[in-house]
Amino acid sequence: MLRGLVWFKNDLRLSDNPCLVQAIKECDELIPVYFLEDKQTKVSAFGTKKMGPIRTQFLWESLTDLDKQLRQLGSGLWLIQGNPAIEIPKLIAQFGVKRLYAKKEIASEELLGLNQVKDACKPFDVNFVITESHNLYHSLDLPFTKENIPQVFTKFRTLLESKSQVREALATPTAIPSIPIPPLNLPEQTLPMSVDARTAFPFKGGEKEAFKRLHSYFSETQAVSKYKETRNGLLGENYSSKFSPYLAMGCISARTIYHELKAYEAKFGANESTYWLYFELLWRDYFVFVMEKYPTQLFTKRGLFPSKPYLGKHNDELFLQWVNAQTESDLVNAFMKELKLTGFMSNRGRQIVASYFCHNLQLDWRYGAAYFEQELIDYDPSSNWGNWAYIAGVGNNPRGKSIFNIQKQAADYDANYTFRKLWLNQ
Ligand SMILES: Cc1cc2nc3c(=O)[nH]c(=O)nc-3n(C[C@H](O)[C@H](O)[C@H](O)COP(=O)(O)OP(=O)(O)OC[C@H]3O[C@@H](n4cnc5c(N)ncnc54)[C@H](O)[C@@H]3O)c2cc1C
Repeated sequence: MLRGLVWFKNDLRLSDNPCLVQAIKECDELIPVYFLEDKQTKVSAFGTKKMGPIRTQFLWESLTDLDKQLRQLGSGLWLIQGNPAIEIPKLIAQFGVKRLYAKKEIASEELLGLNQVKDACKPFDVNFVITESHNLYHSLDLPFTKENIPQVFTKFRTLLESKSQVREALATPTAIPSIPIPPLNLPEQTLPMSVDARTAFPFKGGEKEAFKRLHSYFSETQAVSKYKETRNGLLGENYSSKFSPYLAMGCISARTIYHELKAYEAKFGANESTYWLYFELLWRDYFVFVMEKYPTQLFTKRGLFPSKPYLGKHNDELFLQWVNAQTESDLVNAFMKELKLTGFMSNRGRQIVASYFCHNLQLDWRYGAAYFEQELIDYDPSSNWGNWAYIAGVGNNPRGKSIFNIQKQAADYDANYTFRKLWLNQ
């Protein structure tokens, strides 16, 4: 009897899940587990929470959906409150686990978590199976080594487009051999909270919802065929795909989206817009691979340029004005209010408020990134810290830094005040 423990993290899905597929192939019985750590209460080095309430709610929805799906296949999701480095050895001893399946990590904190578990499991005869499931391209298929990743995105993109292929998505399992799993037991304080009705992301978490959104954005509305023209929009469901929260939580894989996009193009025709969605997924991969090369540096003030001075400084008062939508810019205030009340903000909005934070207010960019980490339902270490560093001028930005003229942005993207009126009038 070979028992395997499947450690779900931000890969909360059955489809295209390498850990799960390999575990089913190699083991007689599985124990699918998710650990609720102290992220909901933990305060970061920047005074922000690691996970705010809207993000937490999206996680509960995703866990509930995963548990339901696992139960339909004969298993379930065992939710354990505590530190994996303490809890996993207990499970190994109790159930005689011989293999532990987990996704690969690249960011410093997550890597540390994984390494602590590895250390804690040393006294046991357990094999670790680490699989990669977050990116579009598998790291083994890159046409360069991790150390030689191009310093600019365009070079990265052209090399991948000409030399690499996206692997096929793995099939969804149809049955899961499992020990009996206790009912999902979410903490009591997890009462559903209502998200502001003005949200551009009126969807719930979970794999089922991710596929619903995929089909709605692709074949139902064909909104993806206009993506290039609409993607800088600020209002409504369909100016962009809204896939990011599902990708961040791992409710759907980037590969699945890519292959659905190819199927869509075959049926409805390819155009600049359909290409552009793939282009943006490449940006996501770029930040992943940059972080893999610099797992700790991207969280430091000077980022990729440790010997260059960085002038931004923390200022509590200015920081709180920005957080609480009380800056001198009504456009920035509207975006910040949207973020606080919905956990989401458009890409245009993120660029504007980050540029304002770094270049108008001249604050230490990491505090802004940490606040995004608390609030964003699509928080993803590499995309968040990579984009912030890029705008601040300490990341892979060929222009040095990105400085947005806030008045011009308002004139270009909210000329008739529709967005500002929506968020600031109540
Ligand atoms: C300061 C700042 C912080 C950000 N933090 C995050 C974050 O924590 N998590 C996150 O997923 N994205 C982050 N982004 C990137 C981007 O803003 C969001 O991915 C996008 O707005 C999500 O909406 P969407 O899914 O509708 O995107 P779409 O426009 O439909 O794009 C499709 C997908 O491409 C990827 N993508 C698009 N733009 C980017 C980008 N600039 N960088 C990386 N991937 C991209 C996302 O996976 C997205 O879901 C950040 C951008 C900035 C400027």
